[in-house]
Parts: sequence; structure tokens; C-alpha cells
Amino acid sequence: MHVTAVVPAAGAGTRFGGAVPKQYLAICGLPMLAWTLRALAASGQVDSVILVVPPGQETRCRTEILEPCDLTVDRLIPGGADRQASVYAGLAAGPTETDVVLVHDGARPLVTPEIVRAAVRVAATEGAAVVAVPVTDTIKMADADGRVVETPSRGRLWAAQTPQAFRAGWLREAHARALSDGFRGTDDSSLVERIGHRVWLVPGSPENLKITTTADLVRAEQILRGRATHDT
Ligand code: C5P
Repeated sequence: MHVTAVVPAAGAGTRFGGAVPKQYLAICGLPMLAWTLRALAASGQVDSVILVVPPGQETRCRTEILEPCDLTVDRLIPGGADRQASVYAGLAAGPTETDVVLVHDGARPLVTPEIVRAAVRVAATEGAAVVAVPVTDTIKMADADGRVVETPSRGRLWAAQTPQAFRAGWLREAHARALSDGFRGTDDSSLVERIGHRVWLVPGSPENLKITTTADLVRAEQILRGRATHDT
């Protein structure tokens, strides 16, 4: 079985406000994106890596992240205007003969090799897997005026993370149909769901944060330090 990882890391990271794109921000001395790529490699399940970075950042990414950290990827390509466009570009650049495509956000550096392996395993047997955690807050659905219209039962609500892994043909078709239908989704699973395939939940971890704010960076450092202590 051949597994390709598509890593969308082409976001502007504007919520950080600084001049340094967030994929270069260091966590415990290593760029965020290096932690992400290391976790994928450590899973032992990923055969090809397609890294998607902001247009114009390809050389900088190679010289400031990949080379110093001794990391290699199979393709390094420019992303699109939103996450979906970046994943679509990654899919188009990937090897055609791959069996499973695993999509994992560059901004989730704390994913563990175990979670990656579980997602690949379920995608290989069932066709589609989304890593998720049960929500702990009560979720409200509201209208545009801020009026609550529904409170879905919390027991059945999950917060989707990445990785999300799919039979390659399903994901390609899902992206092609979303594009032709003008559908924009905030994850890949939603695209696969809407073309009628069953997607299975794989337990994630609250530690598998998406780094969005400076507070997330601080929390990520704490988690990594805790893991280092645990490992020694
Ligand atoms: O936008 P959001 O924070 O949900 O981004 C999730 C992931 O998608 C991040 O790793 C980000 O770099 C990536 N992304 C991308 N191309 C975009 C926007 C976001 O690859 N145009």
C-alpha cells in the first residue's frame, strides 16, 4: 500500500500579526512545520509527502526549514486562496498510483505517530477516516442576528481535527466535484461526505492543537516539554 501525505501549510497566519509566517515560528527551538513533518515521518506509514506553502515561499521554506532540519519532501508547491484550494493543488501534484491520501495541517505540529497510523489504518480498510475529539462545550447554532436556533445534543458532537485520510480516488473525486459545484468546505471529510461516502471517526487528542494564536504556541511548548520529560 502506498500512502501520500498532503500537508497544507499555505495559510497567511495573519492572526499572529507578526512578520514571520507561522510555519517558521519556533516551538522548543524547531520551526512548527518541522515538528509536523517529523511526526508524519515517525509514523513509518507515509511514503510520499507533498508540502503546500504560500506562493513565493518555496525557496525560503527549503532553506530555512527543510535543509536545516534535515527533512525532505517529494514535492514543495505553492498553495491556493483557501485551504481547500491548497489541498486540491497538493492532490494534483501527488503521485497518481497512490492508494491512500492523508491530509494533515502544517499547523498541527503535535500530532502523534500513533494517531497518523490509526487514520491510515481506518482509511485503508473503510475508505475514509477523520481524526476527531468529543466536544466539551455545549454547541449552539445561531442565525445571522445572533439568535440561538438550535442546541444539538453534545453526546454526538465531535470536533474534527487532522489527519484525515481517504482512499485516493474518493478524495480526488470529492475535490473535483466540490470545485465544479462551487462548494467550499473547511475540511476534506465534508467534501467526501457530500458525495455519499461513509467517513469513520478516529479518536484524536486534545493535545493535537491547531496553532492559531500565541497562546496556542505557549501551550504547544508546554506539551512538548512534558513529552520530553516523559521520554527521558
Ligand atoms: O485556515 P486554517 O487555520 O483552518 O488552516 C488550516 C491549515 O490549512 C493550516 O495548516 C494552513 O497553513 C493551511 N492553509 C493552506 N492554504 C490556505 C489557507 C490555509 O494551506 N490558503
